[in-house]
Amino acid sequence: MSYKNYPMVSRVVYGRGSFNQLNEILSPKRQNVKAPFIFLVDDVFKGKSWLTSRIPLSYDDKLLYISAEEEPKTSQVDALVEQIILDYKERPSGIIGIGGGTVLDLAKAVALMLTNKGESKDYQGWDLIKNPAIYHVGIPTISGTGAEVSRTTILTGPVRKLGINSDYTPFDQVILDPELTKDVPKDQWFYTGMDCFVHCIESLKGTYLNAFSQSYGEKALELCKEIFLEDTLSEEDAADKLMMASWHGGMSIAYSQVGVAHAMSYGLGYLLGVKHGVGNCIVFEHLEEYYPEGVAMYKAMREKHNITIPQGICADLSDKEFDIMIDVALSLEPLWENAIGKNWKKTITREKLKALYLKM
Ligand code: NAD
Ligand code: ZN
Repeated sequence: MSYKNYPMVSRVVYGRGSFNQLNEILSPKRQNVKAPFIFLVDDVFKGKSWLTSRIPLSYDDKLLYISAEEEPKTSQVDALVEQIILDYKERPSGIIGIGGGTVLDLAKAVALMLTNKGESKDYQGWDLIKNPAIYHVGIPTISGTGAEVSRTTILTGPVRKLGINSDYTPFDQVILDPELTKDVPKDQWFYTGMDCFVHCIESLKGTYLNAFSQSYGEKALELCKEIFLEDTLSEEDAADKLMMASWHGGMSIAYSQVGVAHAMSYGLGYLLGVKHGVGNCIVFEHLEEYYPEGVAMYKAMREKHNITIPQGICADLSDKEFDIMIDVALSLEPLWENAIGKNWKKTITREKLKALYLKM
């Protein structure tokens, strides 16, 4: 048995207003005046000067607005990398992602692909990256995915939806400033928050569980219960705590794995473009069989916050389309092994998954 030697984010700053330290953090990392910092910023912040005026642009630095309407694609990563290579003679000093999981994952992938040859689709998988990424910084503006701590960047490619998992993927620097999450719309707050909740349940109920994962998972779950089920927190305290729940949830799955909801949500994402957070909710509604207590708690949270989850999204699909989703879900073997155990293939059949998808 060999244990994972897990890379972590090298530096992290936490606190309301810590975003103001960005210039101080970046300045020493500038290679030279021709090597720019490239800021990838969620386009929801276009025209929001309270945030954008604090992005310290100098010399040839560039701010690129990124739409988070769709999840990141390998073709989008390759196009951004090509644009950066064409625009600048020198390799950038760093990539800074400011946004949700979509923009954070793009920032990680671009930083990796600036130093690794070829197309990003060829690196989807585990430990295929050969060279260290350039300096990259993650600044989350919505809490839940754990993308700020993880060693993966989830991309949709021509044949699969799969992460670039590598020791070089984690950010060199993260800035956790809960103030940046203040304008997240309520539904989205819930969907992305539930991503964290589901990470906790899948980690804590999985066969890969160990004391390392459990310690982070239990803390994150405790925070989620406080945030989503109780009325004791101020809006600011809830935002502060959700940012830390996301971090802990990410740390928990880092050393274990996710489970049934994620495997099936990837299928929905690949075929129908359903986004990660809401996709997990759509699936989790129907997983009593696997996570009875977690699903009951989830439903109480959903009802308390009066959130509607899309229904009937698989109603009109053809057999061929079900097969595509089932193939994607079944290909994520470690997730099933964690959720069900070594003999998962005995109970997780194509018919079983189709019956579940039909309910969604
Ligand atoms: P997101 O980044 O897709 O953003 C969701 C929506 O919220 C977008 O419309 C965005 O514009 C908006 N938004 C973000 N911040 C806002 C703010 N402060 N104010 C107002 N609106 C704001 O959402 P997400 O759930 O954080 O990320 C989902 C992505 O994360 C998926 O692509 C998924 O694959 C990825 N993911 C990655 C990991 C990982 O470990 N790398 C883990 C889980 C999920
Ligand atoms: Zn997730």
